[in-house]
Amino acid sequence: MQHHERRTYQEENGINTGLLAQAMAAGLFADRRVSVPPEAQTSFFGRSFISVDQIQSSNEVNQLFEMADVMAKVTESNGVYRPLVGYGVTELFYEASTRTSLSFEAAAKRLGAKVHVRDGMGMFSSVTKGESLQDTIHAACQTTGNDLIVLRHKEDRSSEVAAKIAARYGVPIINAGSGSLEHPTQALLDLYTIKRLVGRTERLKVMMVGDLLYGRTIKSLAKLLAIMDPQVELVFASPQELAAPADFVEDISSRVGSVEETDEFLSALPEADVVYWTRVQKERFPLGQEELYDRVKDQFIFRREHIELMKEHSILMHPLPRVNEIDYAVDKDPHGAYFRQMRSGLYIRMALMHEILLGHQIVA
Ligand code: ASP
Ligand code: ASP
Repeated sequence: MQHHERRTYQEENGINTGLLAQAMAAGLFADRRVSVPPEAQTSFFGRSFISVDQIQSSNEVNQLFEMADVMAKVTESNGVYRPLVGYGVTELFYEASTRTSLSFEAAAKRLGAKVHVRDGMGMFSSVTKGESLQDTIHAACQTTGNDLIVLRHKEDRSSEVAAKIAARYGVPIINAGSGSLEHPTQALLDLYTIKRLVGRTERLKVMMVGDLLYGRTIKSLAKLLAIMDPQVELVFASPQELAAPADFVEDISSRVGSVEETDEFLSALPEADVVYWTRVQKERFPLGQEELYDRVKDQFIFRREHIELMKEHSILMHPLPRVNEIDYAVDKDPHGAYFRQMRSGLYIRMALMHEILLGHQIVA
């Protein structure tokens, strides 16, 4: 006698209520990630972005800027472009930030991603219990299943350490500022600002002013300028105690047209196309150097009368936050680019996340 398994009412009637089958039928298991053809896989695609040193040529930067132009145009025309729907981005910030954190969050959300932001990592996370950066990266990957991590940390090598762990999950890291040496997305947004406001990224004379010892933005920007134009002229103006580190100056001198070091900023002001002011980085002074900080903190202040000395089409930049070093009376002058500079951060970070996750294409 043939044995028939007993069939359920649902089976007999062709109704399958198993959740897996329902989910399959609803398309839940289709890979949500956008496919990226080889020609759209730029140098940023699928990789962590840790240092300006990763950039090989000005072409790579110009390609990113082409994408940033699209992001600027979409944003400025109030358009909608959400190719990262279904993707997730995690922000881990161990150091204070307003702009970088906000602009990465806004950039990812404008592209449609969901975003998890943890700032105050040094104060409120398991780091206070002694957890290592490595373990925190495992946690960030495991708990979220997200596709990208944005990291700000006080250690110079933090992004490299994090990238090694995150690579095991196929998750790239973007360095949002590490120690006193690198802030590569700031350099990109600074250069993009120069391109938009000065009109070119070559044949420039750029004066960097302030805390060149601890400031990381000037180091990343100097390296990026050298990639765009090996003839770029740089002037480093700082109080002697805050002069750029000797090994950095030596290295950058071999990559650019000229480097001049000075302890005053007036003489080069009339020749500079870009004047890049910086804050004295109080938080990076070693313990016991409070007296030094007090002595140098107000030595270099850009005041209203200095505007008269600047070239007609030159710009005054600052990565912000500003403490005292640019007089508020300068803010309204058209040379002042530091507020518009922040908007470049939104476009550049949108473009960078796009290139890393979706490549150099428009996802229709
Ligand atoms: N430029 C810094 C940043 O964007 C200043 C700040 O932290 O507010 O993170
Ligand atoms: N916001 C910039 C940085 O994070 C500059 C600064 O903090 O002064 O490096």
